[in-house]
Amino acid sequence: MRIADDCVVILAYTLRNDAGEVLDSATADQPFAYVQGKHGVIPGLEQQLAGQEAGQQMEVTIAPADAYGEHNATRVQVVPRDRFPAEVEIEAGMQFHASDEHGGRMTVQVASVDEDGVTVDANHPLAGQTLHFTLEVLDVRAATAEELAHGHVHGVGGHHH
Ligand code: ZN
Repeated sequence: MRIADDCVVILAYTLRNDAGEVLDSATADQPFAYVQGKHGVIPGLEQQLAGQEAGQQMEVTIAPADAYGEHNATRVQVVPRDRFPAEVEIEAGMQFHASDEHGGRMTVQVASVDEDGVTVDANHPLAGQTLHFTLEVLDVRAATAEELAHGHVHGVGGHHH
């Protein structure tokens, strides 16, 4: 069957950035599965995969706007060192959970540490990046009613509960 909304899509892929560095991957042995149309993957990937069938191999390039968004400088800020636990050595690359102004949870990543404080970046780590997928569609099937209710895949490549 062809990929359309409410299908379970099972993929193997390698994700690279512009520099050719591998950021993420999934294999036929340990595939990635999602429900098309449920915002389980970035919009650009759903758009490119719509209408494809099992066995399709593709090279897909997705611009930041259709992936994790542009890097937003207003989401970078300097926080006083004493807002972090004194016993923890703060280093670039560490991630912390924080509350946003609406009380929601977000993940911030430490960009740098200096005498002025800790520079944290609340953008998604892949914001501003063009993504290059080499992928293969391993299987396409109709989602079960339970999977549609949960918004995620059960079994291979998905949740086990
Ligand atoms: Zn579930």
